[in-house]
Amino acid sequence: MSKVVKFGGSSLASAKQFKKVGDIIKADPERRWVVPSAPGKRDKKDTKVTDMLYACYDLAENNKDFSKALEAIKARYDEIIKGLKLDLDLSDEFATIEKNFKAKAGNNYAASRGEYLNGIIMANYLGYEFIDSATVIFFDENGNFDGEKTNEVLSERLSKCENAVIPGFYGALPDGSVKTFSRGGSDVTGSIVSKAVKADVYENWTDVSGFLIADPRIIDNPKGIDVITYRELRELSYMGAGVLHEDAIFPVRQMGIPINIKNTNAPEDRGTWIVGSTCQKSDYVITGIAGKKGFCAVNIEKDMMNSEIGFGRKVLQAFEENGISFEHVPSGIDTLTVFVHQDEFIDKEQKVVAGIHRLAKPDTIEIEADLALIAVVGRGMKSTRGTAGRIFSALAHKNVNVRMIDQGSSELNIIIGVSNEDFETAIKAIYDIFVETKL
Ligand code: ASP
Repeated sequence: MSKVVKFGGSSLASAKQFKKVGDIIKADPERRWVVPSAPGKRDKKDTKVTDMLYACYDLAENNKDFSKALEAIKARYDEIIKGLKLDLDLSDEFATIEKNFKAKAGNNYAASRGEYLNGIIMANYLGYEFIDSATVIFFDENGNFDGEKTNEVLSERLSKCENAVIPGFYGALPDGSVKTFSRGGSDVTGSIVSKAVKADVYENWTDVSGFLIADPRIIDNPKGIDVITYRELRELSYMGAGVLHEDAIFPVRQMGIPINIKNTNAPEDRGTWIVGSTCQKSDYVITGIAGKKGFCAVNIEKDMMNSEIGFGRKVLQAFEENGISFEHVPSGIDTLTVFVHQDEFIDKEQKVVAGIHRLAKPDTIEIEADLALIAVVGRGMKSTRGTAGRIFSALAHKNVNVRMIDQGSSELNIIIGVSNEDFETAIKAIYDIFVETKL
């Protein structure tokens, strides 16, 4: 058995947190592969080291004095080193970073140093080998992650050691220069390493005990999710539920490796298991609820639309021509509605309308703004009768007017459109009916 353990920034923000992490790793000899983030916030007002690095490099790039900003970053690491009583001095590393900043090494390089330096400390603290991710994680000349080459080199490299620390968030382009994933990308590194070593589990350690059924800003103390499938998670994270980087799912999913989201501050908690498939029923019919505000609905009407071949394509072409992606397209016999993000759409509204007129020659076009979409997700819905009925009667009870309904063909989710102002009420009503009253 071998496990990959990835620790997020808040788990590594201070020496105290590092010690918790050390204890977690040492408690289980299967935790052989460690992927650290950069130090995160020690408290609410603190700044993540990654953000300090971006700001510091900004100064360097604009030929401003960045020595103080770099010193503040070094102080963050020195505090950790001192707190852990390590015999380690990062002065040479910082001299190299300073030199490279002066030579305008780029903000990807700058940001990556957060994980790189934390990796050096972690390896020293654990007595594990340090592997610079720039030597084992690769991007192609277009900046896209090169999964094949990475898997080949990384699995070969890791087969030669018993345990290692591989910093998260970055790799190298073909010319050797550093390239980072998008923000939060250490999750992706953890997944890539898990695939390369064919880990039994990818443990992703953070500061919460897994996913919650609904957003805690809307629901007081929502219940946690014990087990969720990759597909359910995709649906929920697409609709705004965040904890894990979206791209972190793909490498492990290919290999059927489960992800366990765990809490560094409460390691005994079971956390959430993310799995390929499961026969485990969740405690509730639904697995989770997520949603977003700020959508527009473009309603297009045309007599005999249903018999006109290519109508939908022509309408969508008007959106494509303007670089707008659509979210949902529910349709009736003579109507078709396109849901789009309001902030993407608003400036191009009249161009899109003109495009639809030109391409599809509709009778009328109406636009409605300030709508919210809510996804109710659950693998259990497929085999449960009356789920939709319960959702809609709960919403009717709370006087929420449903503007759109879309059930995915997978029967894994039901998407509901409501007005922005009904968003919170609707989520509360759905949570209540399935979780509180467990109907
Ligand atoms: N440190 C990077 C960030 O703040 C990457 C990560 O933590 O996953 O986005």
